[in-house]
Amino acid sequence: MIRTLVTVFAGLLGLAFGSFLNVCLSRWPEDESVVQPRSHCRDCTHTLAWWENIPLLSWVVLRGRCRECKAWIGLRYPVVELAVGVLWAYTAWNSTPELWDRHSPTMVLAPDMLAIIGTMIFYWMLVALAALDAENLWLPNMLTLPGMVIGLLFAIAKATLIALSPDHGTVNPIAAIWYEVKPVLFWTIVAIFLSAGLLLLIRWLYWIIRHREGMGLGDVKLMAMLAAWLGLPATLLAFFIGSMLGAIAGLVVIALPAARDEGEGWAHTKLPFGTFLCIGGIVSSLWGQSIITAYLHAIGL
Ligand SMILES: [Zn+2]
Repeated sequence: MIRTLVTVFAGLLGLAFGSFLNVCLSRWPEDESVVQPRSHCRDCTHTLAWWENIPLLSWVVLRGRCRECKAWIGLRYPVVELAVGVLWAYTAWNSTPELWDRHSPTMVLAPDMLAIIGTMIFYWMLVALAALDAENLWLPNMLTLPGMVIGLLFAIAKATLIALSPDHGTVNPIAAIWYEVKPVLFWTIVAIFLSAGLLLLIRWLYWIIRHREGMGLGDVKLMAMLAAWLGLPATLLAFFIGSMLGAIAGLVVIALPAARDEGEGWAHTKLPFGTFLCIGGIVSSLWGQSIITAYLHAIGL
């Protein structure tokens, strides 16, 4: 019962944070404030009434059009709201069962609670980056770099809470913290450098072969951010999934008659690799462990 209530609450909260994210996604590229003015139509500046501003529902009721000027609001609004809502609800539903047992002592649960909050922040940022790259081919440093640092801080904080948990059974708390934090810190930093390095290497090889830029530096920083949250194996899986999605999208673009008519144009169509990488990151975060285990099993390891 508690589990269902918390899941519903997390889903509704996700819809609200997705709705706020839509404001950011419309205004960040224009360098506008996300606080002022109040929500309005991007075409006729009609200020939205409260009932035109309800996540998901308003879009459905208005059939995706402004009430005043009938301008198309765009699919991004419901998609972003739904994505954050579903991811947050799923994260809450899937969290450790002990969390829903009110008899568990708080300090034992603290690391898991922290991990849930961290995962929600991580998904929110990935949905933001996926949408920004899809719409503007833009992966802003103001998201990827803090995203990487926050991921590292969450990993350190979780290790600290594990060291302080009563289960740990150590006498000297400072020594216990250092014992838990040191390997996390070391391996997270290694993962960040190797993941970013892999993309820099691919970028450089592409430059040598094709003499033009295949991937932006934003993609490199996004890989570093994924590594800070997911670790190396899951980040490599995210990169693999992202590359597959990118290749499929590339084939679709080539197959489209309109794109082909432009002659050589399709070869220069820019695909938002960051969007595919973000989707890969979400899939890897949700099911990466099972996918990697199944793969190792399949190749006989
Ligand atoms: Zn309007």
